[in-house]
Amino acid sequence: MNPFDPKHWDPCNEALERVHEFLNQRELTPQDQADIRRHLTDCPPCGDRFDFEEKLLERLKKSDPCQCPERLRARIKALLDLT
Ligand SMILES: [Zn+2]
Repeated sequence: MNPFDPKHWDPCNEALERVHEFLNQRELTPQDQADIRRHLTDCPPCGDRFDFEEKLLERLKKSDPCQCPERLRARIKALLDLT
């Protein structure tokens, strides 16, 4: 499969644009989601790309700056100091 073949590239570009909508939880009809899933299954390059982007987004969500653990630890320490 030649990835530079326009016959392949056009549906892939369209699929990848929709993948972003898919990952961003934007409005997609069940039909759109089914189309994307089918393309990702039929087209390994797009499937890999989807996996990559999905993992990347997952990591970004996890590394979201959050002071909670630090504050929680400080609070626990304060409680322990009181006893
Ligand atoms: Zn594709």
